[in-house]
Amino acid sequence: MAEEYVGRKFETEFVEGDPPHSEIVGEIISAGKALHAMGLTPENAGNISVRTENGLLITVGGVSKGELNPDDVVEVVDFNFSRVKAVGRKEPSSEVPMHWLIYQCYPMAKAVIHAHDMLAVDNADKLKLTAGVHSTKEMASYGTEDQAYQVVEALKHVQYAVIRGHGIVCMGESLDEALELIINVHKSLKK
Ligand SMILES: [Zn+2]
Repeated sequence: MAEEYVGRKFETEFVEGDPPHSEIVGEIISAGKALHAMGLTPENAGNISVRTENGLLITVGGVSKGELNPDDVVEVVDFNFSRVKAVGRKEPSSEVPMHWLIYQCYPMAKAVIHAHDMLAVDNADKLKLTAGVHSTKEMASYGTEDQAYQVVEALKHVQYAVIRGHGIVCMGESLDEALELIINVHKSLKK
């Protein structure tokens, strides 16, 4: 049983800044549609981010990834586990801590996708054997420092990790690369 969503676990301070990079926002919207069409972001689940020179662009909370509008992507320009500074008008995804920490720990990561691929969650043991995919060690509450550090640890092995009982995370040198990897893993498990 998935944990109930009770909102984000940090405060957001909205700051002035340049409008978001429209080209990247378009790519995020397309990726959201592709994930949603495959059933990997049920209801409003999942989040997508891309590294920028100031921080990261990320989807906002509480929206379907199949119906993202340009103002559903905000730029996070500063972060600590209790406070986020963002350029935009809407609250960023509750999973900012995990995304921010991945970019901090893995310089190769230019894009990060979190999706609710429950087929992958259910086949975590098989993915470890066949593809070297690791899972987070213990159940952790979403959007927490604990979950973020566990995900970073699991990503030490390959670019894709399972969040125990919750979903998956994938980082890529591009958004396309991360998306393709998620889709390929899903298809391989469906066979
Ligand atoms: Zn999730």
